This record gives sequence, C-alpha cells and structure tokens, in this order.
Amino acid sequence: MAEVPDCIFCKIAAGEIPAKIEHADEDIVAFHDINAAAPVHLLVIPRRHIASLAETTDAEAPLLGRIVSVARQLAAKFELDSGYRVVINCREDGGQSVPHIHLHLLGGRRLGWPPG
Ligand code: 5GP
Ligand code: ZN
Repeated sequence: MAEVPDCIFCKIAAGEIPAKIEHADEDIVAFHDINAAAPVHLLVIPRRHIASLAETTDAEAPLLGRIVSVARQLAAKFELDSGYRVVINCREDGGQSVPHIHLHLLGGRRLGWPPG
C-alpha cells in the first residue's frame, strides 16, 4: 500500500516529518523513538504501510526477517553487547499506539520482565 494519509510513520519514512534516522534502505527505515523508554530505543519500520503484525501474511516473512536483521545490526552499532530486547506490540491488547507496524529495539539498561 502507498503512503497512508495521517500515518505518522508513513510520513517519517517519506521524510515529511523529521526523525533521527539510523538506517534507511529501499524497504526499511529505523529511527529513534521520540519518547525513549531506555538509553537506546529505536523503531524499525517498513516503508510500506502495514497496520500491524496481524495484517501480515507469509508473503511478508522475508520483509519481517529483514526488519529483525536491521534491529540486530543496530544493536551491534550501538554496542548493546550485554543484551537488548526487540518487541512488536500488536493491536489494542498488545499496547500498539501507532497503527503502522514497527519493531522496538530497546537496550542500554537491564530491562524488567514480565511487561505490565
Ligand atoms: P507502540 O506503542 O505503537 O508500540 O509504539 C509507538 C512508539 O512510537 C512509541 O514508543 C512512541 O513514543 C513512538 N512515537 C510516536 N510518535 C512518534 C513520532 O512522531 N516520532 C517518533 N520518533 N516516535 C514516535
Ligand atoms: Zn503508515
């Protein structure tokens, strides 16, 4: 799907809203979360608008794999050698607040578990 009007992350991917970009390729963009929950808190998104993980199919498996690979590369770039967490919140009960699929990369401190 092309850019969706009023989607914040479509606009960030298109360069229409500023963000601190850490990775950009043909299909994927990664940037710092505006409200960081950890010393390193990045969001990895596909440029293509997909509302949530629940809207993906097996056809998106390669794209999802590449999103996870970008997260791994960024974790190495930010020297999160003692560990980190990747999270995809999905829909209301998962706590998703922006309806454009995104993977959180969190690190730089010891993270608690389980989540609330
Ligand atoms: P969710 O709650 O949907 O899993 O995560 C959405 C994340 O996007 C939140 O951590 C929130 O701080 C971040 N966020 C929301 N709006 C913006 C924005 O305009 N720019 C950036 N960089 N992050 C945003
Ligand atoms: Zn979007």
